[in-house]
Amino acid sequence: MRIGANANVTEVAVVGGGIVGTSLAWHLAKRGVRVTLLERATVAFGGSGRTGALLRRHYSNEPEATLAQKGWETFAHWPEVVGGAPVHTATGLVVTVDTSAACVGNAEKLRQNVALQNRLGIPARAVGPEELRELQPFATWDDVPIAAYEADSGYVDAVAATRGMAVAAAAAGAKIREGCAVLGVTSDGSRVTGVRTTDGVLAADAVVVAAGPWTNRVLAGAGVALPIAALRVQVAVLHRPLELEAPHLVYLDTVAGIFCRPWAPGRTLVGVGGGDQHDPVDPDAYAEQNDPGYPALAIAAMARRIPAMARASYLGGHAGLYDMSPDTHPMLGPVGPEGLHVAAGFSGAGFKKGPAVGQAMAELIVAGRASFVDLRPFRPGRFAEPGFDLDRPWSSTEYAFSRDFGHRL
Ligand SMILES: Cc1cc2nc3c(=O)[nH]c(=O)nc-3n(C[C@H](O)[C@H](O)[C@H](O)COP(=O)(O)OP(=O)(O)OC[C@H]3O[C@@H](n4cnc5c(N)ncnc54)[C@H](O)[C@@H]3O)c2cc1C
Repeated sequence: MRIGANANVTEVAVVGGGIVGTSLAWHLAKRGVRVTLLERATVAFGGSGRTGALLRRHYSNEPEATLAQKGWETFAHWPEVVGGAPVHTATGLVVTVDTSAACVGNAEKLRQNVALQNRLGIPARAVGPEELRELQPFATWDDVPIAAYEADSGYVDAVAATRGMAVAAAAAGAKIREGCAVLGVTSDGSRVTGVRTTDGVLAADAVVVAAGPWTNRVLAGAGVALPIAALRVQVAVLHRPLELEAPHLVYLDTVAGIFCRPWAPGRTLVGVGGGDQHDPVDPDAYAEQNDPGYPALAIAAMARRIPAMARASYLGGHAGLYDMSPDTHPMLGPVGPEGLHVAAGFSGAGFKKGPAVGQAMAELIVAGRASFVDLRPFRPGRFAEPGFDLDRPWSSTEYAFSRDFGHRL
């Protein structure tokens, strides 16, 4: 990579001030790279400010489990690693998968995936209904013969973390420009020369587009079109009844069809999984508030796992966007003219990976390869390769689903 040749030119322009862009800016700046981050609104305006930020590390493939574990290491040790107040709360986290006849083999796959996590240093274990009842006596577990439990996983204050990462990047020397929209990527035909912005042209040796569901709009001028769809996804915040005063675990509960986490004292953030809850939208024109029927839907879904939540009340909620890739795995790496990179397509599961993706992309740009993860499976061009099979699993332990949860595990 020919970066740093002109001392007056920013070496890397990062487009997008979410957890991925801010983390990348921080990692580049720490490595002595002159980096400018361009955010059209404010840092954490996109998915990173509307996320659930559940921090599961349970994946059925090694590259994503590695990114999740590396991300957890940063979030869980935030004051020492990044600086500032802690952002992670380790409530414990449970993952359920359908083990009915329609999904035969999932129980054994779960055991093997827990073993994969253990190999990566994650202290997960498989638990049965008895232990689940001990952990969460107020929940019903008759439909869960086996689940994965991560005692030191939990959730993150996503806005504090994303903004904190931007502050750390600036302290390390990165320029952070809010309110500056990138209108397109410029190139001399064979390699990038910079970006066109609402504040004028910024020359750059390399450009990384980490603009979530807006990524294709930024790439359009460079003649690159990636198969990224913007899907609208809602979450609601509920007041728990007083009998559920103590915080519960984080649940990625594909059996009950919910993901949820504690949200401030006495409150729970919940999202309802499933394709019927995910609408393709224009990322610049979508309804940012909950649909009128969503509060009742969310309460009923929560009550499937925790019956007393039928008496919860609705505080508020919002809709955010998933940047869906066709195989639900991210797109990380070079695209189009030399020097242009993308980090997008996180498909509703990118927050936890953000710090790790930032490090991996910084290493790719500076050293030619990431030190701790093989990025090749994430190559953005894979969908156009001859023989590419969208349905080919990334491991032999990928779960079968009897109904759509929104993304794979
Ligand atoms: C409701 C919901 C729940 C979720 N739950 C989880 C979860 O539990 N766990 C998990 O790991 N992930 C979860 N996710 C996914 C996760 O939040 C995202 O994958 C992650 O935040 C994406 O970060 P990002 O930096 O890639 O993109 P974003 O945070 O979307 O940042 C992209 C930024 O680019 C900016 N931008 C766009 N266009 C331009 C332009 N032209 N010029 C300059 N800037 C531009 C935007 O303003 C935005 O700030 C959830 C997402 C949603 C919506």
